[in-house]
Amino acid sequence: MILVVGGAGYIGSHTVKELVDSTEVVVLDNLSTGHCWAIDENAIFVKGDLGKEEDLEKVFSTYSIDAVIHFAANSLVGESVVDPWKYYENNVVATLTLLKVMMKHDVKNFIFSSTAAIYGIPEDTFLTEQSLTKPINPYGYSKLMVEQILEDFSQAYGLRYIVLRYFNAAGAHESTSIGESHDPETHLIPIILQHLLGKREKISVFGKDYDTPDGTCIRDYIHVTDLAHAHILSLNALLMGKKQMATYNLGNGTGYTIKEVIETCEIVTGRQATIEYVERRAGDPAQLIASSEKIYQELGWKAKIKLPAIIESAWNWHKRNN
Ligand code: UDP
Repeated sequence: MILVVGGAGYIGSHTVKELVDSTEVVVLDNLSTGHCWAIDENAIFVKGDLGKEEDLEKVFSTYSIDAVIHFAANSLVGESVVDPWKYYENNVVATLTLLKVMMKHDVKNFIFSSTAAIYGIPEDTFLTEQSLTKPINPYGYSKLMVEQILEDFSQAYGLRYIVLRYFNAAGAHESTSIGESHDPETHLIPIILQHLLGKREKISVFGKDYDTPDGTCIRDYIHVTDLAHAHILSLNALLMGKKQMATYNLGNGTGYTIKEVIETCEIVTGRQATIEYVERRAGDPAQLIASSEKIYQELGWKAKIKLPAIIESAWNWHKRNN
């Protein structure tokens, strides 16, 4: 049985949907940012907190867990700058509690959601797993700290783990039953689509003086179902003993400026956006583009879905759910 911590969240719920086809899944989530409706009906749901040892004890003593996939975290760059305590408490301290209970119950397989934010301001155009890790916000630091903890736990306690460093997750499940839904919404693509649906007056673009071709930030967008598949492959690699520890970047390998993302949304939806340029958002690097060559070489994973199709899937979901 696989324990998915944070399985009611955006990337977690899409991964659970894929996982339930081949294995038994138990989801632990406190529903602080996730949604009950997003949890696949074939998964067992336990409401609880990964920072509370007693909640974890209940799960680990009730179910026979073979591996843990850990999605539960706060993940907003801007918020982490304003409220770093929240990020270190929920992302680092709570993960340590989870790992402690795992070690106690002799559960040694772990998949961890990390982020491109650990790279800070990139020195390389295409970030590889070897690129310098020097975060510029508490969110990135909180994830990098856990990566270090995992390395040390592996050496000391024999933990087997795979770290997946996501670039910008976007899109929705093809069934349109689940998609990206945050409250408040802060992510670029949902904000653009909500605007194009008439739910927001305009799109505020954070900064137009970055060192990029049109002055707006460049990001690498990756479909959430492509991400989900990377988790399944990683899990199988751990469970089959093919990997003991590994770190992989997950992106499409193509960067788009914010303006290009807005233009693509306009083309996909056939609607025109109203933009205002505002101050830069604290903690944002100018550019983040992945090289995902390593996971392709080692596990055969490659992102399949490109930006227009990512946006189309998100649009189909937003039209139905907004
Ligand atoms: N962004 C923006 N306006 C918004 C939301 C986001 O200009 O309303 C920018 C943000 O500053 C960043 C990019 O869009 O450069 C992607 O931001 P998002 O929050 O979607 O993801 P992140 O890169 O922070 O994980």
